[in-house]
Amino acid sequence: MEKLLARCSIRTAVCSVLLIVLIPLGGSVRLSRPSSAADLLLLNAHVLTMDQTRPAAQAIAIQGDRIAWAGASEEAQRLFPGSARTIDLHGATVLPGIIDAHTHLIELGKSLLRLNLKDIASEKEALERVKQKIASTAPNEWILGWGWDEGRWASHYPNNQSLSDISPSNPVYLVGLHGFAAWANKKALQLAGITKDTKDPENGKVLRDERTGEPTGVLLNRAQELVEKRIPPMTLDQVKKAIELAARECIRNGLTSVHEAKVSAIMIQAFRELIQEGRLPPRIYAMLDGADQALVTQWLERGPEIDPHHQLTIRSFKLFADGALGSRGAALLQPYSDDPQTRGMITTPESEVYGLTRRSLERGFQVCTHAIGDRANRMVLDAYARALEEVHQTRDPRLRIEHAQVLAPDDIPRFAKLGVIPSMQPTHCTSDMAWAEKRVGPQRIRGAYAWRSLLKTGIHLPLSSDFPGETLNPFYGIYAAITRQDPQGNPQGGWFPEQRLTLEEALRGYTVEAAYAEFEEGAKGSIENGKLADLVIISKDITKLPPKEILSIHVLKTFVGGKLVYDADVDK
Ligand SMILES: [Zn+2]
Repeated sequence: MEKLLARCSIRTAVCSVLLIVLIPLGGSVRLSRPSSAADLLLLNAHVLTMDQTRPAAQAIAIQGDRIAWAGASEEAQRLFPGSARTIDLHGATVLPGIIDAHTHLIELGKSLLRLNLKDIASEKEALERVKQKIASTAPNEWILGWGWDEGRWASHYPNNQSLSDISPSNPVYLVGLHGFAAWANKKALQLAGITKDTKDPENGKVLRDERTGEPTGVLLNRAQELVEKRIPPMTLDQVKKAIELAARECIRNGLTSVHEAKVSAIMIQAFRELIQEGRLPPRIYAMLDGADQALVTQWLERGPEIDPHHQLTIRSFKLFADGALGSRGAALLQPYSDDPQTRGMITTPESEVYGLTRRSLERGFQVCTHAIGDRANRMVLDAYARALEEVHQTRDPRLRIEHAQVLAPDDIPRFAKLGVIPSMQPTHCTSDMAWAEKRVGPQRIRGAYAWRSLLKTGIHLPLSSDFPGETLNPFYGIYAAITRQDPQGNPQGGWFPEQRLTLEEALRGYTVEAAYAEFEEGAKGSIENGKLADLVIISKDITKLPPKEILSIHVLKTFVGGKLVYDADVDK
């Protein structure tokens, strides 16, 4: 940690900004004096507090759901002699609970319930898995799958024929890894009424056979809705089950808080019931689905719901400005370098982004808009700028752009100027780097996944996984952030290594910066007096490892609000 801080002090620009922000906050939550008994005392640890005023400690005292004190082990025993429970950590490393600033619990949960096609090597393998599933499915029942890589398959999308041959009577619908393309069989197309004569919906595309004009079975972006509205909706119990399964994966991976990036009414009900039933350990920061007009109207009327217990806070809307780069749905200012016929698609017009942002600012909501291409990012920044200028609000807006993946050089400084938070995913970079330059060419790629260029302007940089499109293991994200290499260590030296983050910056991205992005820096993100006792104990000292070994770190224990919610010794 000392080494980290030395590095940090050289990088004065960013750190001093962060220090200014953090010191008063740290001060405001400090308890006046610790009492002599803690509910739980953690001793002999290597604590990375992420508190710049006290970066390292060896012991933590917890009272109720809060951190009462952090410091040296001997002092802890002297100050808290009558503690109810003491755990000797034998030098293990402790981090603040990891906050993943962009997740899809529901999709991860669904994928755990559905046919999993992640990591399949070929179409043949996908078909094999569908075949197995048919064997255990009732006639006419839907077969739902998820996880084939639409980025990797974009140049040779599959056809419905192979799926229809193995499943003539069960409708089959297989969503891509990132949710921007889906592959359906004939039965599913039939039920959805998709024929040769079906017009492409706005912001979506039904892929067609060049010769016959018949739909191939692949649906891009919002064309997926044509089939999705025919699938029987999940029941509340199914939604709860899916979220519960995903939440378990979170705490196994040290995630104590997640920012759920698109939440529906039934999900809110599921969250509330799961919390009441004690079945949802991680804390949820919910981004309401901004495309659901009824939900938007209801919540704008009602106003934000900020949970005093920090379990479920609802104070933001999620919008989608475009699609993804892999499927060429990301909206670019100039045509794709590898397909001059297209510039991608804007999926929510600027007037709508502006309209919702304006109303949100007036009502104290945050807006988080998905934008991948440079055209989408510019459009969102323009819409945000106009709304910010027009609403003379006293509140702190912290508008966010989710992904901010490909940026025109002129737009990079606009984030800091407008106070817009780029919410970025290190593993998107390392997953996309094999083909990203083909899509945007050698010039535009310089503004892609440009973490360092953005940081230099003085922005806050929360990091996240965007699971289940990527792994939810935060150590893969940290590794990707500091190396810009794939897990095998390619390319050597890292892909555009000048954009790498330091370990300190990456850790901050998953802790204090992610807390800032949800207005929770006063309660979460670092280990200091008065903050929530959300902690992760990990298997290795992350500050002393060669980068590749970071991938092998695993979580030993996870605490949320002082409660042990995952213990590797018990939950294998
Ligand atoms: Zn997402």
